[in-house]
Amino acid sequence: MQTRTNQKNGEELSILGFGCLRLPTKGREIDEPRAIALIHEAIENGVNYFDTAYIYGNGKNEALLGAALNGGWREKVKIATKLPPFMVKTLANAKKIMDTQLLRLQTDSIDYYLLHMLTDKAMYDRLSSLGIMEWLEEQKKNGVIKNIGFSFHGGKMDFELILKSYPWDFCQIQYNYMDENNQATKDGLLLAAEMGIPVIVMEPLRGGKLVTHLPESVTKEFASQKPEKSSAEWALRWVWDHPQINVVLSGMSDEDQLAENIRIASTVMPNSLSEEELQVFERVKTVMHEKTKVPCTGCGYCMPCPFGVDIPGCFSCYNDKYLMNDKSVRFKYYQTMGTLSKKPAVASQCHECGKCEGHCPQKIEIRKQLKTVKRELEGPLYRPVAAIARKFMHIK
Ligand code: SF4
Ligand code: SF4
Repeated sequence: MQTRTNQKNGEELSILGFGCLRLPTKGREIDEPRAIALIHEAIENGVNYFDTAYIYGNGKNEALLGAALNGGWREKVKIATKLPPFMVKTLANAKKIMDTQLLRLQTDSIDYYLLHMLTDKAMYDRLSSLGIMEWLEEQKKNGVIKNIGFSFHGGKMDFELILKSYPWDFCQIQYNYMDENNQATKDGLLLAAEMGIPVIVMEPLRGGKLVTHLPESVTKEFASQKPEKSSAEWALRWVWDHPQINVVLSGMSDEDQLAENIRIASTVMPNSLSEEELQVFERVKTVMHEKTKVPCTGCGYCMPCPFGVDIPGCFSCYNDKYLMNDKSVRFKYYQTMGTLSKKPAVASQCHECGKCEGHCPQKIEIRKQLKTVKRELEGPLYRPVAAIARKFMHIK
């Protein structure tokens, strides 16, 4: 495993960080023994940066990481976790959240502590006006946290404003070959580096979509250049090609993904992509931008919907219709959205309450897009036909 030096504090951080949002699951729950074994395997192969958040898995994610690091593993790694701004109305809320996090993580200090998912400067200003930054500095002096940072999902201008508003120890941005000009953008990455602020990258595979949701023409384009390299390898190499990036977080949910990522992270070098390879990315990006309808990464921050809509699931099916030119997409939509189950989760269940939209880091107009999903994947006959089928099958 290669490391890159944190320019602010001299720590050697593995270039591959473990993003704990997408741990292996069994049914709807984390598969605990498998997740713990995966975390140990990562540490044994040199991964020393683990990223979680207060809200991941309704708190189960931090607790799982805490359990996995028990018994001598904690000292080998850096823990990053996050404070959810939307749950912080007062300083007392933030204090309570951090106390809970320390308990869940079974530790007395958090190495990298982030304001989670800032989207604009006003959000930072609100937290700052509550005294959050002074309090975080006190925690840093007391050794309860070691580094203060933020994760970001807004636009380039706000990223710059936030970056310049506080002497951050690090920042975390979404970055991959499809997002070079999206959110913080490459300009934001370069600015952070110029300011000497370490950069952690999340979503290098856009929630796996740059592997599982590629049009055939794109996989062929990659394969025609280097048939031995997977789509994941192409995407990760593109991110690691940037010397300004310290750590790339990958949400690894199975053993094969972990092994592949470790292999790539042991050999990849910055500024090593050839001119021909960079041209492949340009062609791929053109195809992908033309075909992606909703830029949903599947992060699930918008969930749960009070009316039971599986928001990322709906968008995934809808994108597949265009990205994969999948003729059976309607059938898959009916099936995966539980049309004949006790709890269907289709787009037409949306009551437009708007609860989800403020949580979406990609700023997707969820209500509007769900109407399109309803129109294109359900059509006018869906509800009466589904109602008859459910009645016939005695599903309540
Ligand atoms: S706007 Fe629609 S999808 Fe979003 S939370 Fe409300 S009902 Fe659910
Ligand atoms: S709609 Fe937004 S918040 Fe919901 S899963 Fe997609 S990207 Fe995440």
